[in-house]
Amino acid sequence: MSQNYDVLIIGAGVVGCCLASDLARSGYSVVVVEKANDVATGASKANSGLVHAGYDPKPNTLKARLNLEGNKMYPSLCQRLGVKLKKTGAIVVGNDKGAVDALYERGKQNGLKNLEVLGRDGLLKLCPNLNSDITIGLYAKDAYIVSPYLLTICLAEEAILNGATFLLNDKVKNCKKQGKNFEITAKNTTFTAKYIVNSAGAGYNEVAKVLGSERYKIEFRRGEYYVLDSTESGLTPITVFPLPSAAGKGVLVTPTIDGNILVGPTSYQSDVSTKTTKEGLDDVKQKSSALIEVNLRKAIRQFAGIRAITEGDFTIEKSRKVEGVINLAGICSPGLSSAPAISKYVFSLLGLEYNPSISAKKIKPYFLLKDLNDDQINSLIVKNKSYGRIICKCENITEGDILFALNRPLRVNSIDGVKRRVRAGMGRCQGGFCKLPVAEIIAKHNKISLDDVLKENEGSKLFVSPIRGGKND
Ligand SMILES: Cc1cc2nc3c(=O)[nH]c(=O)nc-3n(C[C@H](O)[C@H](O)[C@H](O)COP(=O)(O)OP(=O)(O)OC[C@H]3O[C@@H](n4cnc5c(N)ncnc54)[C@H](O)[C@@H]3O)c2cc1C
Repeated sequence: MSQNYDVLIIGAGVVGCCLASDLARSGYSVVVVEKANDVATGASKANSGLVHAGYDPKPNTLKARLNLEGNKMYPSLCQRLGVKLKKTGAIVVGNDKGAVDALYERGKQNGLKNLEVLGRDGLLKLCPNLNSDITIGLYAKDAYIVSPYLLTICLAEEAILNGATFLLNDKVKNCKKQGKNFEITAKNTTFTAKYIVNSAGAGYNEVAKVLGSERYKIEFRRGEYYVLDSTESGLTPITVFPLPSAAGKGVLVTPTIDGNILVGPTSYQSDVSTKTTKEGLDDVKQKSSALIEVNLRKAIRQFAGIRAITEGDFTIEKSRKVEGVINLAGICSPGLSSAPAISKYVFSLLGLEYNPSISAKKIKPYFLLKDLNDDQINSLIVKNKSYGRIICKCENITEGDILFALNRPLRVNSIDGVKRRVRAGMGRCQGGFCKLPVAEIIAKHNKISLDDVLKENEGSKLFVSPIRGGKND
């Protein structure tokens, strides 16, 4: 007998997972179909990790409204999930007083309160390393940094704990409306749902084609970054933006919640490939030097994320072609900041009651042994010896930390999945030393062969065949 759900969500990025958790905690039955092997593998893993204050979006747009509303929801959201959130504030700097004043006015129009225009002396108090050409800037106090992937993972886990089903490595193959319900065929299962939300990010149009709903003109823009070693964390305690241009918010320099520095992103029209390019990284180098002198020899990684953009604004609407389908297209920046407010807005489009129960189940917050005090560390190792074995030497991540990630409501079978949860492999050697021990822990815990441990998605096997002790030895 096939399962009947209230809502099918397609795409498990921050938006899909936030909605899944809110629906499950409001008493609705939810299924999430995600094509990748884990949640948070699209734009939600590769962005600047900023909860924007909301001065940048054009007034009277969904972006402006949902950014501001989402920003206000973040402290309680992260407290509920036990996800770290830091109010660093942000400055937008340059030497064009007119442009700074215009941004201030835009922020005021969007309803921001904690905004200030500062001269060079005021800016230097917030960021002593600013380039000598900078004379003026806008200071937005209500800006935060967060781990976008850990937040998404925790939202998915919270959704599961409250009854949601996640189908990973899956896609909707077929969808038929039968009376008021949709009959849905996924890879290995069929089920029904009353409503469908397409939150597939860069995959929106592909999903819309299967659903028969509206397709939009979506432009992809690649954002490339450098990640600097944590030795550079003193570079800036606050997010530093250049003045925005038509191409977007520009190349910024920001601390991350985990103690690195992020420099980027570019904004080039692209396909959906997340490759980095010489051209892009040179652009990051040149543009960031206008803000702060960054030592890019301290870079430990480069990465890229893909923005999926519909013209002008987020496109969030009820499908006019297929009743019961909600279209979420063009959820580019500030989509991370807006995610909790987007979720609430989708409830209103669905005509469902947004009423997350205060007695909904709570996830156990992630923690790392290294963040505990000496007494706590000693007593944890006495209770559980796996916390005494360091696996990732750069980040001081123990076997106990990794097993904690493997024993959560959402199963993990990839090295990158472990990395996003507990940072094993996020340090200077980028997993050069710990990849194999992490794979062995995953294999043993999940009772699978080492050959079946993946780096990320299906097909990304790390081990082809043994070089010793194998049949050719
Ligand atoms: C470079 C860059 C920097 C950014 N910086 C910020 C920032 O600092 N602050 C901010 O607020 N916002 C920022 N954003 C925007 C933010 O990252 C996005 O708005 C947000 O992550 C979008 O979340 P999502 O859930 O809509 O999409 P995604 O995270 O892309 O999730 C979509 C999911 O759908 C899945 N999917 C795709 N096709 C299918 C299919 N056919 N079937 C099933 N599943 C499918 C994908 O695998 C993916 O997991 C940035 C974006 C980029 C690219």
